[in-house]
Amino acid sequence: MKNILKELSGVPGISGHEDAIRHTIKNKIKKYADEIHEDKMGNLVAVVKGNKKGPKILLSAHMDQIGFIVNHMEDKYIKVTPIGGISEKITPMTPVKIHTKNKKIDGVIACKGPFFEEAEEAKKVTKLKELFIDIGLIDKEKKDKDQDKEKDLLIQQGIEIGDQITFDVPFVELQDNSVRGTAFDDRAGCAVLVEAIKNIGNNFAGEAHFLFATQEEVGLKGSRTAAFRINPDIALVVDTTSTGDMPGITKADSSTILGKGPIVTLADAEGRGLLIRKNIKEWLVDTAKNNKIKHQLEIGLRFGTTDATIINMSREGIPTGLISLPGRHIHSPTEIANIDDLVGAAKLVVASITSAEKYF
Ligand SMILES: [Zn+2]
Repeated sequence: MKNILKELSGVPGISGHEDAIRHTIKNKIKKYADEIHEDKMGNLVAVVKGNKKGPKILLSAHMDQIGFIVNHMEDKYIKVTPIGGISEKITPMTPVKIHTKNKKIDGVIACKGPFFEEAEEAKKVTKLKELFIDIGLIDKEKKDKDQDKEKDLLIQQGIEIGDQITFDVPFVELQDNSVRGTAFDDRAGCAVLVEAIKNIGNNFAGEAHFLFATQEEVGLKGSRTAAFRINPDIALVVDTTSTGDMPGITKADSSTILGKGPIVTLADAEGRGLLIRKNIKEWLVDTAKNNKIKHQLEIGLRFGTTDATIINMSREGIPTGLISLPGRHIHSPTEIANIDDLVGAAKLVVASITSAEKYF
């Protein structure tokens, strides 16, 4: 599991730029699938058929990650547009990579910094539109005074408007089987589904459709169209959540803990997002208990939701559950996950596919 997460979180794929990560996942899972296909939204779906008739189950994790796209060049610096929920408070001075057609360019997303800020300015958060990427360019003599210098700089570097930019944070192992890296939201979910496909076999009723969805971070888009096409009887989404086991956070804000197992989320965004019904809770919680899988329950965070919400509202309504993976510092450049939680989540996904026929 650790190696799968390391590999998947190292492949760039901000929303709308999922080609490389889709290719990587497809290669890892195709030998376990009865059918595999890509759709017009860039989603990847692998179908595994059970050995008897039963419900069609959709399992979903999103492939896309938060990041930036190149907006324009100002002097020697690159200005960006954020893609997905990025907080300006935690972004400055993070190493980044610009992914051009032919090469990767290293840089840092920066602001003018402490030596140049007035006392009042230093107390404030630098707005995203004031940030810029520094790739280390220096001033050069202009050969032709009529040249468009900024356009010229972009062309020289091979950078195009719209190129994707990702946080450049190495994957490292921490204490207690925890790991640190970037894009764990939701490559951790993708890793869990990859592991589940490897282990599911065909000793279950019905069909399991494993969806690796696009563009979740910018409006739950890929899973919406995929759910319509697949038309499942039930669905189960695997995504990350932020645990509350940190200084300054009360149990009432979040009672979830890193390392205490996968989380069955009962509601998020105070019910404006997902609000699961009793039969979904019974299916997932009973399955976890019956299989002795350490797990937690969660009333999710006040803000933010997942693909589970939009799949739940697809077609005539699809009963949908959400397994949340505990994580610290989610939606920041550097996230922490615990491998034991992901191993438990993969077991819970497999057990839930197997037990679904009893509940639906
Ligand atoms: Zn996510």
